[in-house]
Amino acid sequence: MSYQLINPATGEPMETIEHASIEQADEAIARAKTAQAHWAALAPADRAAILRKFAQVVDADLETLAALEVRNSGHPITQARWEAGHVARVLEYYSAGPERLIGKQIPVAGGIDITFHEPLGVVGIITPWNFPMTIASWGFAPALAAGNAVIVKPAEWTPLTTMRLGELALEAGVPEGVFQVLVGRGSVVGNRFVTHTDVRKVVFTGSTEVGKTIMRGAADQIKRITLELGGKSANIVFADADVDKAAAAAPSAVFENAGQDCCARSRILVEASVYDRFMEGLEKSVKAYKVGDPTDEATEMGPLVTAGHKESVESFLGDVPIAFRGQAPEGPGNWFAPTVLLPKSNDDRCLREEIFGPVVAVVPFKDEAEALELANNTEFGLSGSIWSRDVGRVIRVARGVQSGNLSVNSHSSVRYSTPFGGFKQSGLGRELGPDAPLHFTEEKNVFIPHD
Ligand code: NAD
Repeated sequence: MSYQLINPATGEPMETIEHASIEQADEAIARAKTAQAHWAALAPADRAAILRKFAQVVDADLETLAALEVRNSGHPITQARWEAGHVARVLEYYSAGPERLIGKQIPVAGGIDITFHEPLGVVGIITPWNFPMTIASWGFAPALAAGNAVIVKPAEWTPLTTMRLGELALEAGVPEGVFQVLVGRGSVVGNRFVTHTDVRKVVFTGSTEVGKTIMRGAADQIKRITLELGGKSANIVFADADVDKAAAAAPSAVFENAGQDCCARSRILVEASVYDRFMEGLEKSVKAYKVGDPTDEATEMGPLVTAGHKESVESFLGDVPIAFRGQAPEGPGNWFAPTVLLPKSNDDRCLREEIFGPVVAVVPFKDEAEALELANNTEFGLSGSIWSRDVGRVIRVARGVQSGNLSVNSHSSVRYSTPFGGFKQSGLGRELGPDAPLHFTEEKNVFIPHD
């Protein structure tokens, strides 16, 4: 089966991509199984050197990778460059992993007791279309560092940069079969990762709905899983914050990548006493947000990924009052102007469901208790921000928000050196941070008697 890619910014057809069959998935898994044994047997320093080389090769290819992401996903060029560079940084960071898979020596009677971190074997990584390169790297870099072979299945709509990373891995000297990219449908290739007994872990990033299917399927083999799922994060602005700064920063926290971001702060909660001032600042910053041609260096936001996805985002507007909108180009391409909604009820769909587009809802609150109640009034718990100058309040609220990744007086969520993942239905397990390679190992305990 083949799949026609469409440039999201122009609506023009691009490459046609062949989708792998279930038999091809089985062949790839068999190749990975054989290759993994050799990879794990390499000296740790040799595996580390290959990962460092992989990082260098990605760096050298940065402009090609970035241009592919602009064409395939509509990401603004400056952001696409950052994403390609991020992959190299993630590889560099985890290239230290092979030489740091350090076990323990535990005091016991009659001998010595030591632990080892053994690789799992073959790891299947299923990625979404919103950040194809970066999300793949969060799985494959620590998995490779821990001595596993990986097969990455990119999303149907956005496979090009992942396919390129597969070529770059070989160029960097990653042995054949250790890093494979298999383009195909989720229900075919992705599901095969779940059902095949030689795939020992599935790393899934995508919708909560499909994540639940993966979790159910994994139960059959007690297969290890990491799930990175949806979000409905809150950006909480207290009256004692730098309100102007919070209003100026709010658009990038939700409209970056056209809102197609699991960490998008798609609910802004504002203390009622500064609501008017905040909205005045927000209107200015939303209207100034630069939406347009993703190849333009000045562009901050590109198009939505497909025409179908644009329809899904539009469906959230319905009869919810619109406070104001930003600008977007006319004509071909999946353009959608940044939109600020004022829902009348806390049960409104735009406050409960992940929109995954450049739409944000603003809700006033009266005090800290209500802010926390509103922030936690969701089945998701991935990200969020707290704006306040009161250190005590920042600590109380940061501990009270049921979410995996919070930023104070800022909106950054993802650093490769810190753990990332969700509470509640936003996911299971953590990616990134110093412990990520351990999540691709089994801990083995060995006792050796003295006599
Ligand atoms: P999706 O669930 O539709 O698809 C994700 C991937 O799963 C794709 O590669 C798809 O082919 C595959 N898939 C689909 N059905 C499958 C099945 N039955 N078995 C195995 N694989 C299957 O998600 P999407 O629309 O591509 O991505 C958007 C979603 O991803 C949003 O909900 C977003 O919040 C989430 N996301 C989460 C994070 C995070 O880190 N928490 C990061 C990015 C995106």
